Amino acid sequence: MSTFTVLNPATGNAIQDVALANVETTDRAIEAAAKAFVAWRQVAPSDRAMLLRRFATAVDNDLENLAAMEVANAGHTIGNARWEAGNVRDVLTYYSAAPERHTGLQIPVAGGVDLTFHEPLGVVGVIVPWNFPMPIAAWGFAPALAAGNTVVLKPAELTPLTAIRLGELAREAGIPEGVFTVIPGKGSVVGERFVTHPAVRKVVFTGSTGVGKKIMAGCAEQVKRVTLELGGKSANIVFADADLEKAAASAPGGVFDNAGQDCCARSRILVQRSVYDKFLGYLEPVVKNFRVGDPNDENTQMGPLISAGQRDTVSSFVFEADGGAHPDMAFQGTAPDGQGFWFPPTVLTPSDPFARSLQEEIFGPVVAVVPFEDEADALRIANDSKFGLSGSIWTRDVGRALRVSRGVEAGNLSVNSHSSVRYSTPFGGYKQSGLGRELGPDALDAFSEVKNVFIATE
Ligand code: NAP
Ligand code: MG
Repeated sequence: MSTFTVLNPATGNAIQDVALANVETTDRAIEAAAKAFVAWRQVAPSDRAMLLRRFATAVDNDLENLAAMEVANAGHTIGNARWEAGNVRDVLTYYSAAPERHTGLQIPVAGGVDLTFHEPLGVVGVIVPWNFPMPIAAWGFAPALAAGNTVVLKPAELTPLTAIRLGELAREAGIPEGVFTVIPGKGSVVGERFVTHPAVRKVVFTGSTGVGKKIMAGCAEQVKRVTLELGGKSANIVFADADLEKAAASAPGGVFDNAGQDCCARSRILVQRSVYDKFLGYLEPVVKNFRVGDPNDENTQMGPLISAGQRDTVSSFVFEADGGAHPDMAFQGTAPDGQGFWFPPTVLTPSDPFARSLQEEIFGPVVAVVPFEDEADALRIANDSKFGLSGSIWTRDVGRALRVSRGVEAGNLSVNSHSSVRYSTPFGGYKQSGLGRELGPDALDAFSEVKNVFIATE
């Protein structure tokens, strides 16, 4: 069996070797999950609810350990890592209420009674990226388990540690064997098998748009259900009437959080031309003072990138092949040098609307700032993207906030704020940012079939 050496991205040092599953071990896990499904779907709703609450409690009791693991494996700041482990607990708690509340309908018909039932799908395969290993896993497995499915989950090769721990915590909490199985391995082996194995009835994938398209095409072969959460190039739109200082103070957090490795990163800032220079003036000191460093330090705002490869990719947007700064570079903050995969927060001011930095997802701490003329121009630029995941609108005009919110082609918008994710509200993308919605009350429907039954009374 092959292994993968997990690195600490803040130091580049090895943490531990993780065994990678091959096709045979993956098949065995999928078959065990299919077998476990037979009993799991029959567990009384109140008992399934109780087991999910126990799982949530086990996560809460292990929160500091999970957070420390994520700091070491993914370079997340300790504050973020604690939030992420807490999010797993909260998502489990939220969906623990579902087994007893996922009600069907009784529809008036002639000659009898008509009922709908929500039936679980069977085995659900969840494929997780490295950027938010814990929350993205939970957004898949918690509603899937609550709806009565069993789950096989593949963490990203780079960041398997917290997922492996969550699998252990589920067993300790009493979730039966085979109901939730974590399978570390390669995307091209384990992930691919989720797509091709007929016992896996649904694939939940979060990651790059390129791999997402391949998964969707592969799933078509068996008309397999699929939810996709893909990339983004979200716009932070700042109108002249906004609280400019507040908008500038919060803009770096909206893009540099998690070192920009966030599908919701507001990586394009659109500023009304009349206040463009003033906004950049407010932005510069905030970027230069952004605290980048040891992710274990409670005061750190940003840690390293996940890998040397990711740093090279990010660098290609900021530096020319000869090492010189790209002409679009406006200013940079600071980052530690030496060991680890560090990159400073960077602001670009591209003049070409087709600049790579305005079109492609960078997935690093790089933001492009561009001016716009009026509301229509702001919408035109914001929507000039194949992506449509999230975005922000800064204005004091309530009517404009609503008009622009309705006009932006994206699934998750915030006004005078950069928050995108709440476990109780739906999350997902327009266009090539994804397919389907996670979280919130409707996610259960993504993990069940509606069955209609007519009973004749005559
Ligand atoms: P990726 O290749 O799409 O990987 C995401 C997950 O899919 C990983 O678990 C990966 O496994 C797995 N995978 C890869 N190839 C697969 C295949 N053929 N079949 C099934 N599963 C497969 O993403 P990445 O390479 O980690 O990151 C590349 C870029 O994707 C980033 O720079 C960023 O632009 C984007 N991205 C977006 C998000 C998001 O939240 N929307 C998250 C991460 C990345 P391995 O770990 O073995 O590769
Ligand atoms: Mg990849």
